[in-house]
Amino acid sequence: TTENLEALQAILGEDQVITGKKTEKYSKDFYWYSPVLKEMLEDKRAEVALLVKSKEQLKEAVAYLYEHNIPLVVRGGGSGNYGQLIPLYGGAVIDISGMNTIFSVDGVVHAEVGATIRKIEIAAREKGYEMPCMPSTWIISTIGGFLCGGSGGIGSIRNGGIAYKDNVKSVTIMTMEAEPKFIKLEERDAIKALHTYGTTGIMVEVEMRLAQAFPWEQLIFVHDDWQELLDWSYEVACDDSIPKRLVSVFENPISNFFKPLRKHIPADKHTTFFMVDEACAEKVIASAKAAGIEHVFSKPFGSPPKPPFITDYTWNHTTLWAIKADPSITYLQCGFGEDFNGNFKKLKDKYGDEVLIHIEMTLGNSKFRTEKPGVSIGGIPLIRYTTEERLNEIIAFCESIGVAVANPHTYTMEGGGAHPDLSEKQALKDLADPKGLMNPGKMASYKHNPLATAEV
Ligand code: FAD
Repeated sequence: TTENLEALQAILGEDQVITGKKTEKYSKDFYWYSPVLKEMLEDKRAEVALLVKSKEQLKEAVAYLYEHNIPLVVRGGGSGNYGQLIPLYGGAVIDISGMNTIFSVDGVVHAEVGATIRKIEIAAREKGYEMPCMPSTWIISTIGGFLCGGSGGIGSIRNGGIAYKDNVKSVTIMTMEAEPKFIKLEERDAIKALHTYGTTGIMVEVEMRLAQAFPWEQLIFVHDDWQELLDWSYEVACDDSIPKRLVSVFENPISNFFKPLRKHIPADKHTTFFMVDEACAEKVIASAKAAGIEHVFSKPFGSPPKPPFITDYTWNHTTLWAIKADPSITYLQCGFGEDFNGNFKKLKDKYGDEVLIHIEMTLGNSKFRTEKPGVSIGGIPLIRYTTEERLNEIIAFCESIGVAVANPHTYTMEGGGAHPDLSEKQALKDLADPKGLMNPGKMASYKHNPLATAEV
């Protein structure tokens, strides 16, 4: 209503309250990666976007939304890819990227949630540290958006994902109440608030433990034989004497999609990307040579980081390049299990080029641990999409052979499969969001709240 808008303008200032067509860009993320989500979410948007610059502004605006039963979603960099931030019930989107102060960087980064990971990585490297893990979208993603919507990425081969061990030291959330409160969740308690799409409170500050920085060398190798390349890549990944930040393996023709790299990567090859300690680069190149594998690219990552970054082609960026080259392509997120070689064969025998293997190796966890503890074989295989039924059939086949799927074609936390037990998160939501106004519908099993459909 006009009354609501005027009240919000009085709190934030006119230029920080966005209405009309311009709310569209604040209401969307990379949901269109999924043909299924694209259809479901295309017409959903917030009625108002609020650009907050401080905790005080945030608190006042949220108290107002609470009082008037207006649902809200929080937006960081908007790079999520499951429609996590797309409001299902209209209402307000709060853009929190203006709250981006980095308070301190030593062994721990203490920052406001809107700080970009790029900014943190640069500040950390100046002090001899780096992000323990970061998404391939590290240039545009915020630290808060990563903890609320992401899982892991570059660095996860060495330090695991966001929920691994003590990577997160604390998160501070703000509740949505008449008088919003700040709650600091420390150590393992903080895990409750991770990857919950802003349904369990508004994250305002984080403390994340940093890793020791290395002078990383970015390396690319190609080969004609899939099994030989994978065996060699896995051996290097498992060699603890070689510090590494990234191990990505792409089945031919995936690297053909990486247009800007075509001058370096010969066409129609299986390809491996590594980031290894520069002190070990020669050793890795020599071991490739001995295995008959061709080395085609070397470039330092740099401190401060300087493009080109091979990270721009890994993790879910791989999918982006593939969709650019062929819009009929989509993807899955998989843990390939202990018998990953056997599972690749089963997938290829059944689906041929309908499924293209893209592997991201990470530090083993209990769920996907391989026979050599320490390295898990997961990844983001590309799928040539025809129908939703066919996609579901491929998912069911994966699960039948022991390939775990975190389904990216759903916007609910339950459907994505990253939350085997939601009870702790539901308890946090009870506390932080008594009216159920925070990103309603995303924690789908949470008690429904009819207030969520109220209009602004
Ligand atoms: P947003 O998209 O703005 O938000 C993500 C979710 O968190 C939304 O539900 C939002 O409502 C919520 N949220 C944001 N900020 C807050 C807050 N302060 N309080 C409460 N809730 C909040 N993810 C990975 O984990 N690893 C990858 O390697 C990776 N690669 C990607 C590559 C591409 C090309 C794309 C498009 C996505 C990729 N993602 C990856 C997904 C996404 O980039 C990450 O989840 C990213 O970290 C999100 O950060 P963001 O700031 O853009 O968050």
